[in-house]
Amino acid sequence: MSKSNSMKMYIPACGRNESFARNVIAGFTVDCSPTLGEINDIKTAVSEAVTNAVVHAYDDENADNLIEIAADIDDEGTLTVSVRDFGKGIEDVETARQPFYTTAPDEERSGMGFTIIETFMDEMSVESQPGKGTTVVMKKRIGGDAER
Ligand code: ATP
Ligand code: MG
Repeated sequence: MSKSNSMKMYIPACGRNESFARNVIAGFTVDCSPTLGEINDIKTAVSEAVTNAVVHAYDDENADNLIEIAADIDDEGTLTVSVRDFGKGIEDVETARQPFYTTAPDEERSGMGFTIIETFMDEMSVESQPGKGTTVVMKKRIGGDAER
């Protein structure tokens, strides 16, 4: 049976939606029989991307500030998740991706979000336009782990 499936949703960029979003994506992958390790990796990565949209993209938490989350699983069991915001964007993506780089050190940010996503997923790309928003796309092959 084909494993392919897709979903898209829009949610307000607020702290409460970090756990909602990661649980939706975890649920979306269940059909592909992910291992516990894979689910945890995916949840961690989605959490970091959504947290970034909540914390950095917009100046305040209001219901009009949206995050678009789309996910897709192909026939080979590769999961693609994109987390997009329509906020302030990132001037220099390459610098922002470096470990320990943060523009919010006073908020106890450690600058490890992008590094964590890269570590836990197979691929990550970041596209951003200042004033328009940011899209983080991450991919992971599901069904590869030994500890099933
Ligand atoms: P941590 O994730 O460890 O709490 P952090 O969020 O600062 O800290 P990263 O997630 O690696 O670290 O992000 C690095 C920097 O990239 C952020 O400090 C911020 O300046 C910028 N950034 C990341 N995501 C976005 C976004 N969606 N919109 C605008 N700026 C962003
Ligand atoms: Mg972060």
